[in-house]
Amino acid sequence: MNWQPESVDASNRMNGPGSTSLRKIAVIGRGTAGSLAAASVTNQLKDSDCELHHIHDSSIPISGVGEGSWPSLVGELQKLTDLPHETVQQRLNGTRKYGVAFEGWGRLQRNFTHYFTPQQVSYAYHLSADVMADLLQEGTRARHVDARVLGIARADGGAEVSFDGMAAEHYDLVFDARGFPRELDADQHIDIPFIPTNTAVIRRTPAVIGEESGEAIRQPTYTRAVARPHGWVFVIPLTVHTSYGYIFNRNVSSLAEVNADFDDFLEADGVTEFEPRAVIPFPNFVHRRIYDGAIARIGNAAAFMEPLEATAIVSAQLQIGMVLHIRLSRAPENLERDAPVVNRFLISTILRYGLFVGWHYSCGSLYDTPFWRHARDHAWPQHRLAAAPESVGCSALSKFDDMIDLLNQPVIAREDWHRMCAVPLTSYAQISQGLGIV
Ligand SMILES: Cc1cc2nc3c(=O)[nH]c(=O)nc-3n(C[C@H](O)[C@H](O)[C@H](O)COP(=O)(O)OP(=O)(O)OC[C@H]3O[C@@H](n4cnc5c(N)ncnc54)[C@H](O)[C@@H]3O)c2cc1C
Repeated sequence: MNWQPESVDASNRMNGPGSTSLRKIAVIGRGTAGSLAAASVTNQLKDSDCELHHIHDSSIPISGVGEGSWPSLVGELQKLTDLPHETVQQRLNGTRKYGVAFEGWGRLQRNFTHYFTPQQVSYAYHLSADVMADLLQEGTRARHVDARVLGIARADGGAEVSFDGMAAEHYDLVFDARGFPRELDADQHIDIPFIPTNTAVIRRTPAVIGEESGEAIRQPTYTRAVARPHGWVFVIPLTVHTSYGYIFNRNVSSLAEVNADFDDFLEADGVTEFEPRAVIPFPNFVHRRIYDGAIARIGNAAAFMEPLEATAIVSAQLQIGMVLHIRLSRAPENLERDAPVVNRFLISTILRYGLFVGWHYSCGSLYDTPFWRHARDHAWPQHRLAAAPESVGCSALSKFDDMIDLLNQPVIAREDWHRMCAVPLTSYAQISQGLGIV
């Protein structure tokens, strides 16, 4: 099975009928999403005279988290950098991620692994997010602009970007990768209340896995996702450090409680020293207008579902690939008609990631604590209302229900084995069996 996100063939389309309408493009943001977009524009428009402006405000740091990925990133980075896989992995301080190892989740109280498919063949990267942005910059041909963007507005078939201290500029297409919205607004954002977490405490410890004789590490690694009384802890092994993150709900547990349990966890894990890195509040949401024909929101500006299944980078890949594909392959007169269709497709796919992630909490864990009771009994049951088609304008919920129905069949027909609902049926089956749902 092809382990790709539900995606499009975004291969080189610089000669497509839409390329004439792309003379000037802006990418705003230099985090993972903006760097991927700038490198993708460079790659796909390499023989055109399209002008690319890569804009960021150097006084606003990138989020720098986002160290787990999906297998589609491996091929994407090789294509965008034109470097061998091993070199890319080494440049990322990376290890090969073959899946997520769940500890203490579900009603069976046993550990299980969600493997990428085909199992133990397909792998993704654990990577250093900041060096990935640097790596992608090397292959990007753009005018770099260090300025604060004040606003982006539709104008004359494209979009106008206004700056602090600089004249506004007009672009045919703008990728907005400015990171999380400051606050959620019901008119603009679909809130995801069925995911029960909203904050991360990040710590780093010395690396437990290191390169030998200068070669990329081939040893399979897994992101550990360990259930804890106040949420869960991720453990991501890189060659330069190991990242730990405690994901919890600040409305249910206090930071002091979480830090105390984090200490206990690290001690039990045999960790004697760690560097506290950050406390990061995050929203779970999808923007109602990811793409409008001229402005494409990507990365954390477009959507976020907590990091349990590392769905953010793969979502950014999908957003960028889809928008470039449609703009390059379709004639400009289709633009206004295409935009709502693309927007609905992106919202629906990302919402399905959200349903898949929220579903992980549906059976609780080995802990009967306020957090896990909140997750199982209060948060997850809201998914039907929150993802109802009349609220979100797409059929993500019925597609998700179809997958659950399929899992409940006494026999799954061979022609259904390759079905996807954001992720493949094999992922649904592994989680379902691991949690003890079927
Ligand atoms: C705890 C946690 C763990 C995560 N783990 C994973 C994971 O394992 N896998 C995964 O795929 N994702 C993960 N994510 C998501 C991760 O944050 C994103 O994948 C990634 O960081 C994308 O960020 P971004 O590029 O959208 O935004 P950012 O990294 O926030 O970058 C924003 C950019 O916009 C610029 N900017 C902002 N405002 C302006 C302005 N007004 N004018 C000009 N420039 C501006 C900034 O300078 C910066 O360059 C995690 C997130 C959290 C919170």
